Amino acid sequence: MRLEEIGERVAAVQRRVAQAARSSGRDPSAVMLIAVSKTKSAAEVRAAYEAGQRDFGENYVQELVGKAQELSDLPGLRWHFIGHIQTNKARRVAEVASVVHTVDSERLAQELGRRAQAAGRVIPVLVEINVGEEESKTGASVGRARAIVEVARAQGGLRVRGLMTVPPFELNAAETAPYFDRLRALRDELGGAAVLPELSMGMSHDFEVAIGRGATMVRVGTAIFGVR
Ligand SMILES: *Cc1c(COP(=O)(O)O)cnc(C)c1O
Repeated sequence: MRLEEIGERVAAVQRRVAQAARSSGRDPSAVMLIAVSKTKSAAEVRAAYEAGQRDFGENYVQELVGKAQELSDLPGLRWHFIGHIQTNKARRVAEVASVVHTVDSERLAQELGRRAQAAGRVIPVLVEINVGEEESKTGASVGRARAIVEVARAQGGLRVRGLMTVPPFELNAAETAPYFDRLRALRDELGGAAVLPELSMGMSHDFEVAIGRGATMVRVGTAIFGVR
């Protein structure tokens, strides 16, 4: 992707996010756009930053650490970790990520909390839920959500902010709506927006649907950076 084009695409997606928020009677500032930069170069991230984008999503620890180092001159840039975390990689994530969207077990919550505390940080985290209960997928089952939220809450190094999900990949945009509704309903069962304000849901093909269902964070890669 040409670097100039990335800036235009950031602006275009940002407009679509704002429009989707307004169409459902929500304040556009209540929805954060996270530009998912996995497999893309530091130069491409820099181009999006220059267009005003500040929040970026990464899936792989090695890539996160490398880009964070290369782009450490950019003030206000925030890295969101959105990939599966093996507990032996928790330390690096706890040192670099501004937000972690993928806490999916009690064990990971404990390890991440311990590592965050050791780094002198308090990290906002989301609990990832496999709403579709797909066997091949990461994320906790709906039934385990409450226990994981409670363990994460008990960690001094973590601040639990909400829930995240990735619906089954083969669905089209309209078909994902029930998954987003289920995540929101689960959030309400766990105490509602007062205690879990963030819902991280929606990707390039369905972020507008997700915003209509209450997403506060959308994770958009392809629509900004092109195909991977
Ligand atoms: C890759 C990825 C995205 C972005 O997907 P696009 O379809 O490229 O927008 C969002 N969320 C997660 C968890 C991802 O792994």
